[in-house]
Amino acid sequence: MEQYICNDCHEKYDITPDRWKCDCGGVLDLDKKTPDIDTSIWNEYPNSLWRYFNTMPFDHQFKAWRNVTMGEGQSPLIVLDPETPDVYVKVDYMMPTLSFKDRGAAVLVAKAKEMGVSRMIADSSGNAGTAFSAYAARANIECTIFLRSEISPKKIAQIEAHGAKIEKIDGTREDIAAAAQKAVEGEKVFYASHVYNPYFYEGTKTYAYELYEQLGGAPDSLIIPAGNGTLLLGAYYGFMELKHNGLIDRLPKIIAIQAKNCAPLSAAFKKGETEAEPTINKNTLAEGIAIAAPARSKQILEAVRETGGTFIEIEEDEIASARNMLSDKGFYVEVTAAVNYAGYLKYNRAADERIVIPLCGAGIKSK
Ligand SMILES: *Cc1c(COP(=O)(O)O)cnc(C)c1O
Ligand SMILES: [Zn+2]
Repeated sequence: MEQYICNDCHEKYDITPDRWKCDCGGVLDLDKKTPDIDTSIWNEYPNSLWRYFNTMPFDHQFKAWRNVTMGEGQSPLIVLDPETPDVYVKVDYMMPTLSFKDRGAAVLVAKAKEMGVSRMIADSSGNAGTAFSAYAARANIECTIFLRSEISPKKIAQIEAHGAKIEKIDGTREDIAAAAQKAVEGEKVFYASHVYNPYFYEGTKTYAYELYEQLGGAPDSLIIPAGNGTLLLGAYYGFMELKHNGLIDRLPKIIAIQAKNCAPLSAAFKKGETEAEPTINKNTLAEGIAIAAPARSKQILEAVRETGGTFIEIEEDEIASARNMLSDKGFYVEVTAAVNYAGYLKYNRAADERIVIPLCGAGIKSK
């Protein structure tokens, strides 16, 4: 049976609904074996991220996901411009709640359902809230989402539509997380955290499996937004599993994108540090990646270094112009998701370098 294992002190814990971090304060990972990947059974599953069910740490008997899934995953991979046939966009805004967060939320909520959870709390800068409120509604789990009062009203409307309770907090993104964690501890209720709960990454890792199938191998490089690093770490874990199984021979380089006004990971990377110092969010249009104190900074920095990757910082005026350029090509993304294309434009791509840019939030989500 899998257990949780602390990323700092390596203490192990049984997987129970009320455990979300180590007693030492460290973040928890899953203590599990690298899956033996059997690609021949993938066709027995629906054409969604659940196609990779046998790579996830679930018992064969585990069925809860069948009533939770809304068909998330298998997003299109499209050549952005015929003049650069090796540059792709992965259209992850084509998900049930219009962002990549559905990958993790579907898997985490299925796991919660299996554990008998009837009520959950999450905190979010927006899209995790829309994803958890939708999947909680689908799974008949009562849900409260803690948010900053300034987030896009479109996202708030989406969360309210699913019947989740909203707690609006004035303060930084870190204050919101602290308020949610206090409520979780006080009520002893399940913390559906995309940052802390490692099952979320079992969902986001399918981003890598899909690319592996769509490209017939790994790309050379991945542009990935980095706030809390949930897509970044998921993609990294997925490609690591593929590599351990001999299905690819090297990891794609991770080119992590941060907004210059809130770039603690990039700063730590440049200084050669192993963990990020909390910074101050100087305010950015990219609300979805404005994370001043990412809880998994050590793992994110390790992943980027391990792949020979790098960080790129985006200026505020580059965000709006990148969004317009994508719209001119037919892709309408939310403001936060435009940083990925802005990062690609600043990246010094080698000729023939096969690169994937995620379009991971839909345009109508923004104000
Ligand atoms: C959540 C989100 C991000 C940032 O993801 P992290 O897990 O915080 O790194 C980037 N873009 C969009 C559209 C998001 O919803
Ligand atoms: Zn610990």
